[in-house]
Amino acid sequence: MNIDKIKSLFPIFKINKEIVYLDSAASSLKPQRVIDALTYYYANNGSNIHRGVYKLASIATDAFELTRKNLATFINALENEVIFTKGTTDSLNIIAESYKNFINEGDEIITSELEHHSSMLPWQQVAIERKAKLVYVPLDSDHKITVENFKKVLTDKTKVVALTHVSNVLGYETPIKEIAFLAHQKNAIVILDAAQSISHMPIDVKDLNVDFMAFSSHKMYGPNGVGVLYGKYELLEKMPPVEFGGEMVHLTNKENATWKVPPYKFEAGTPDVADVIALNEAVSLINEIGFKTIMEHEEKLHQYTLEKMSKIKGVNIFNQKADHAIIAFNINDVHPHDVASILDQYNVCVRAGHHCAQLVSKALNQPSTLRASFAIYNTYEDCDKLVDAVIKARDFFN
Ligand code: PLP
Repeated sequence: MNIDKIKSLFPIFKINKEIVYLDSAASSLKPQRVIDALTYYYANNGSNIHRGVYKLASIATDAFELTRKNLATFINALENEVIFTKGTTDSLNIIAESYKNFINEGDEIITSELEHHSSMLPWQQVAIERKAKLVYVPLDSDHKITVENFKKVLTDKTKVVALTHVSNVLGYETPIKEIAFLAHQKNAIVILDAAQSISHMPIDVKDLNVDFMAFSSHKMYGPNGVGVLYGKYELLEKMPPVEFGGEMVHLTNKENATWKVPPYKFEAGTPDVADVIALNEAVSLINEIGFKTIMEHEEKLHQYTLEKMSKIKGVNIFNQKADHAIIAFNINDVHPHDVASILDQYNVCVRAGHHCAQLVSKALNQPSTLRASFAIYNTYEDCDKLVDAVIKARDFFN
């Protein structure tokens, strides 16, 4: 699939021809087939799932479960290991809320300063509540997580390792397979925040041997409002549910209840049926393009832009060695929000702020940063427009 063909699949570029969208790390844009799947469900169906015995309901249930099946294949999990949630944040909170029951005073939980708040805060709160110790992997001089530094904090008391797969600010990839291997030797569980990797690289949960993984549909060309929590079945089986209500209960009487098996135990209430069904189209699109093409394309744009940006006087790039197509930068002493506003005047959309990762800003010693993040629909023209707009912004403020 050539790049013009890919871009043409996203209707926003027909409506908003000038837009240079470099904020896919926040949310990716949606291809027509995802939008069509949403409207098709609402126009042609609209029924609930797992409940009705009539034809419409079983069509909706089958379509919903097809997404689960295809997502399981996508990450090499079993179907009953794929739980639908509201998003990465929801997935990570569910694990913490449930698994905290196995955390005792003095246990250690390892996380890092590279985390998005939704990976680190749930465990910070568990640590406070259970009197456990929250331990941070020291970052190396480039602000990366390394196996060597992980070894320094892993102890016999480690019970949980909660790390990002790819940093949403710096684009660094965590050596999670090696880390999971070491963590398991101490009988700790490993939770992977895959929000920033899921649409950019193939992920095989069995090969990485992580115990849990979380990601969001809206960062992988799917609709907002849906996420996935992958968990090893034997762990999900022994973990208590955190939400109670319809469709998660097996039997109840006035006094007590028993729960359905995973994944249903963790899916209380009516799920986001339309969005889950439409997510299947996003998964199919990624499969059809293929990660080889996706990775080559994004990396080419990344290196091309990095080279040009590095030559702009007054621009500081904080992640020259990023593993993925994210560029974190600032212009001299200009506030990132001011720069982002100027870039917007040239239709260039980038994110400015702490990116829900305040510890990263602290580590970089910056109040906040600008972030350009790339996806399958970006082009060399987008990169050139970003570079031109950055030069104009620098000249404007100097
Ligand atoms: N983790 C990472 C690394 C992220 O980049 C994000 C979103 O930016 C999240 C977690 C939270 O995702 P969501 O807001 O979809 O729950």
